[in-house]
Amino acid sequence: MRCPFCHHADSRVIDSRDVEDGKATRRRRSCPECGRRFTTVEEAVLAVVKRSGVTEPFIRDKVVNGVRRACQGRPVGEDALQHLAHRVEESIRAGGAAEVPSHEVGLAILGPLRELDEVAYLRFASVYRSFSSIDDFEKEIADLRDAGAGQPPGASKPSDTE
Ligand SMILES: [Zn+2]
Repeated sequence: MRCPFCHHADSRVIDSRDVEDGKATRRRRSCPECGRRFTTVEEAVLAVVKRSGVTEPFIRDKVVNGVRRACQGRPVGEDALQHLAHRVEESIRAGGAAEVPSHEVGLAILGPLRELDEVAYLRFASVYRSFSSIDDFEKEIADLRDAGAGQPPGASKPSDTE
């Protein structure tokens, strides 16, 4: 690892520990040239394979951005978005694959988003599943109604007018 201060080509590891439950390794390094110390975090790369076949690293912020668009005007805070993206990443990593197709990322988003906000879920699902008619919405809404049958609609959330 190159020293970020003097750009010396090598550095010495002086401490190494697992972080985030072993998903990443944090290393404290020392530069033999200038003597300065710095930290690196090493994490196994999770790759997303897009429909075009192009592979790119999984980036949690991309999930956040995609979901944030669907949540526009909805009572969903930044914390909830971050939490959702974290859950999505956890569930994908739990699958154990080093590469996942992008549609699986979309699938992993649908579940937690449905719990978070039904309107945002419908928006996201309509794009993700390419809803082509109002029937698709009706079916999805019927599913949501069935799933939420245990509690009166809107019991926990204030209804809002858009
Ligand atoms: Zn240095």
